Formats: sequence, structure tokens, C-alpha cells
Amino acid sequence: GAFAEIDLGDALNANIRRCKYAKPTPVQRHAIPISLAGRDLMACAQTGSGKTAAFCFPIISGVMRCCPPQQQQQRPRGGSRAAYPLALILSPTRELSVQIHEEARKFAYQTGVRVVVAYGGAPINQQLRELERGVEILVATPGRLVDLLERARVSLQMIKYLALDEADRMLDMGFEPQIRRIVEQMDMPPRGVRQTMLFSATFPKEIQRLASDFLSNYIFLAV
Ligand code: AMP
Repeated sequence: GAFAEIDLGDALNANIRRCKYAKPTPVQRHAIPISLAGRDLMACAQTGSGKTAAFCFPIISGVMRCCPPQQQQQRPRGGSRAAYPLALILSPTRELSVQIHEEARKFAYQTGVRVVVAYGGAPINQQLRELERGVEILVATPGRLVDLLERARVSLQMIKYLALDEADRMLDMGFEPQIRRIVEQMDMPPRGVRQTMLFSATFPKEIQRLASDFLSNYIFLAV
């Protein structure tokens, strides 16, 4: 198995070569085709398994395929300043968000897909300016995203892809209410088709409940 055998498109394949990833890790080999086929996914995967690329590749590929970036920044009329990302990656901490953002930017190099990160514990103004310049993929921590939603600076109305990374850690940190509020916003009309990927190192009752609440007809993957 090589990456070229997975139908990710030329731009993404060129970036994977630039990253010097010779072949997919086990979680990538299984998760990427499932996501490209449009299925929801619950994946049990540890840090270091290559899970970041496992959710980033299908998201970038999907954003490029179904929604050419040039068309995306058309905003509803009425002077809204909100950004309308097409994909959301939720992660528990600032450090992990920064790491995902850095990787996702490399994978999205020269694709026209813009990746923006927003996390708490840092001034919001720089993040607001980045959002104003346009965003296809938003990487965020739950608390800061709720803040942005309350300020009406982000709308989740256009989200087509949702990835929750280290979901068990997010629940341990007490983010369940924020996560539920965030996902509720995506479920408000006009709700389009959303594809969701849930990544967690462990699969306790609480995560099983999130999976049954957020995913539809999902495939369970343990690597
Ligand atoms: P992650 O589990 O996503 O945090 O990835 C762990 C590390 O493995 C990161 O430094 C990635 O850049 C690297 N990595 C991910 N996928 C591959 C791959 N297919 N080949 C080589 N390195 C990889």
C-alpha cells in the first residue's frame, strides 16, 4: 500500500510526497478510504499513530472536491462578519491545536484551502483577523470556539466535515457541554450533509454515547 493508491488527488499527493510519508500508517490505511467513501467513523487510535493525517487528508480532499475554495467565501447578505468554515477540527488543547494546524497547513499547501487555528489562553484579536481573511478548515479548542460563536464571528452553518480529536481527553477536561453546544449549531437548519470522524484513545461509555449522538451509521475502527 502506497498513498498514490488512495484517490486523494494530485495536489494532496504532491504534499504527502513533500512530507516524505512513504506509506500510510495502519490508521491511515483504514480510515482514509472509509472517509473518502463518505462514511462516519469512530476510530480508536493513540498519539503517534498518524491520526492527524488520517482525518486531515479526507477533509482537505473533500473540501477541494465538493467546494472549490474560490466559491466559499460568499457570505449571506446583511453585513455579517462571521466566517463560514466548511470543516471543523476540535481538539482539547492549545498545543495539540497548534500541532494539527501546522500539519494541516503543510498538507493543504498550494491547494487554495485555508486552515485557521483558534484556541483559548491567547488574545483573540489576531485569531479574528485570520478568520476575516477566510477559512475553509478551522482547528479549534471547544471553549474558544464557543466564544467565537457567541460573538457571531464564526458560523457553523456550512460545515460539511467535523473531526473530534482526542475526544476522551476533551471529556476528561470537562468540555462535553461546549462540544454539545457546538454540534447543536451544526444541526440547526438549513442543515446539509455532515460527515463526522470521532477519534479517541479509549472507548468508554461516555465516548460511546457521543458516538451514537453525533455519528450516523458509523464504522468502528480500532488499530
Ligand atoms: P500523529 O499520530 O498524527 O500525531 O502523528 C505522529 C507523527 O508521525 C507525526 O510527526 C507525523 O508527521 C508522522 N507521520 C504521520 N503519518 C506518517 C506516515 N504515513 N509516514 C511517516 N510519518 C508519518
